[in-house]
Amino acid sequence: GKFKDGLSKTRSNFTTKVNDLVARYRKIDEEFFEELEEILIGADVGFDTVMELIDELKLEVKRRNISDPVEVQSVISEKLVDIYQGDAEVSSELNIQEGELTVLLFVGVNGVGKTTTIGKMAHMLKSEGKNVILAAGDTFRAGAIEQLEVWGERVGVPVIKQGAGSDPAAVMYDAVQSAKAKKADILICDTAGRLQNKVNLMKELEKVKRVIEREVPGAPHEVLLVLDATTGQNAMVQAKTFKEATDVSGIVLTKLDGTAKGGIVLAIRNELDIPVKFVGLGEQMDDLQPFDAEKYVYGLFS
Ligand code: GDP
Repeated sequence: GKFKDGLSKTRSNFTTKVNDLVARYRKIDEEFFEELEEILIGADVGFDTVMELIDELKLEVKRRNISDPVEVQSVISEKLVDIYQGDAEVSSELNIQEGELTVLLFVGVNGVGKTTTIGKMAHMLKSEGKNVILAAGDTFRAGAIEQLEVWGERVGVPVIKQGAGSDPAAVMYDAVQSAKAKKADILICDTAGRLQNKVNLMKELEKVKRVIEREVPGAPHEVLLVLDATTGQNAMVQAKTFKEATDVSGIVLTKLDGTAKGGIVLAIRNELDIPVKFVGLGEQMDDLQPFDAEKYVYGLFS
């Protein structure tokens, strides 16, 4: 299906290399693990996560008395899923308040695919029968408001906006009032993503968040950070920056279809302890998929 097709670049890169590795080795030795380490790091799994995985693998190989490299392959999948899930089962479900207004706040730097993701998510939720409204909170980037309006028309949901350069907090206030008046189920809020002035951006996000908190008790119900998988370890740096500034509840990793280094999903989850809730697998309306670690990891080897 979509998930598997979208991962084809990562799958062919990663699987080809692992298959080749297990075919070349007759026994499992230190060199075998070193090569595996390189493959994983090359797939953006991240240094700390790779080290953890290799240690776990070594233990498991010993415990199960595995000597055939081919058998290691399934242990790699198992351990990758374990590492992803950590101590708790991680759910990709959105925190939706049934029968009440749910506010989803999107954050992330320009170009990562934030607007596109909002459009896709609006489409997904509308298809589930929800009444959705969009708030054009990126009043800074030229064209951002119009781009969101295009998505609003495509999906068939209203967009609440003010002029370019207006106060994003005022836009949010309007949007919340409108959502209440229309008895909307979901309000999805776009925000600015200019990272040239980090301090100002974070202040702006705080202000926007405060308005939402004040107008809707318990909101925002999700703060979703959008990251571009093709930027690799740079995405990791962005995640750390946003995590310090605000309570990120989940990550949407976009453009996973455009990279052979999809291991970044594991690194983000393991090193930042934020679940990847959705992945973007293309530019179309239905190219947003809930993230499922088992499906993802087993998809890599099938
Ligand atoms: P924003 O600046 O963060 O709002 O980014 P945009 O939503 O404008 O997206 C930037 C570019 O990335 C656009 O050309 C999108 O079509 C593209 N894009 C977004 N998500 C995905 C995805 O999951 N896969 C691919 N291949 N392209 C994407």
